[in-house]
Amino acid sequence: MTTGFFYDERCFWHGGGNYAFTLPVGDLVQPIFGGLPENPETKRRLKNLMDVTGLSQELDMLGSDAATFQELARVHPENYLNEFKSLSDGGGGELGLRTPFGKGGYEIAAVSAGLAKSAIFSVLNGTHENSYALSRPPGHHCLPDFPNGFCLLANIAVGIKAAIAEGKGKRFAVLDWDVHHGNGTEAIFYDRNDVLTISIHQENNYPMDTGSVNDQGKGAGLGYNMNIPLPPGAGHNTYIETMERIALPAIENFAPDIIIIACGFDASAVDPLSRMLATMETFRAMTEQVKTLASKICDGRLMMAHEGGYSEVYVPFCGHAVLAEMTGSKIIAPDPFGKTFDLRQPSSKFEAAYSAHLDEIIEQNFPNLPVSG
Ligand SMILES: [Zn+2]
Repeated sequence: MTTGFFYDERCFWHGGGNYAFTLPVGDLVQPIFGGLPENPETKRRLKNLMDVTGLSQELDMLGSDAATFQELARVHPENYLNEFKSLSDGGGGELGLRTPFGKGGYEIAAVSAGLAKSAIFSVLNGTHENSYALSRPPGHHCLPDFPNGFCLLANIAVGIKAAIAEGKGKRFAVLDWDVHHGNGTEAIFYDRNDVLTISIHQENNYPMDTGSVNDQGKGAGLGYNMNIPLPPGAGHNTYIETMERIALPAIENFAPDIIIIACGFDASAVDPLSRMLATMETFRAMTEQVKTLASKICDGRLMMAHEGGYSEVYVPFCGHAVLAEMTGSKIIAPDPFGKTFDLRQPSSKFEAAYSAHLDEIIEQNFPNLPVSG
């Protein structure tokens, strides 16, 4: 079975707002070309790079219907959806925090959510062994009634709730390796024990008041939300170790029907919205880790939805490595930064400090985790 790659040109046409980087233009803040860091280029250039190397030809390139109002309303209150649609029809605007949209933004966001839903369904239906949704706008920060962090609809949650409603699956593991906390996904499933949510993120980056390791769910959902905040500067080894020691054993223990990755590339060493040192090889290796685990526990069922990642130059290479690994391709787009980022990894002294940080998290917060094997 091939890998399904779900994308839609309209997602690259989403835009709006008068920002210079993350700052509203005005007073002393001069406009810049490109506006918000969340712009089409990182995603479009990933698709372009795959076309140029030929990787696209090894994938099943697909589009998707938009998510329906009914599907969106399983996650978002109807009054939020109506307000969003009305403002979108009227020319665009903003309903939350740093989530501007233009005319037609509602329809584009519904397509973005539809791509995630279709990618999840294609795996659960057995059409593809694994799949990738190049969703834009992203989704993992969006709360049911409050868009934030460039996210207007909760793409992955919309897909999961549709799958549950249509009897496609019962247990879902969502691993979020975007460098920012997956606060939207966490909030939507916080009291449920059929969706395990795990977020690996830079501590106190965004949002600044969520993502604590102590937030582990409530009610029936207690123990089914895990936050692993990493100090700034963590690099390749820390990400791999975090996966091996915490995320993978927790997912294996949960025994999901499918592993879903909120796949942000903003932990990379050149991302303007973080201070981490992950490389193209980090994303490839993490993909290998989850693919291997999926083969072991859920017949290989693995889906990824694109989230953040703001380096127009590097995201396409990181994404290419992920897609090549997912589909088992031999086509490689070599890391354009060569050995530079390897040389910049933390020294052994600091690597030991990051390991000690993980020791502390495991001992204090997740003492019952099985040892990965
Ligand atoms: Zn992010």
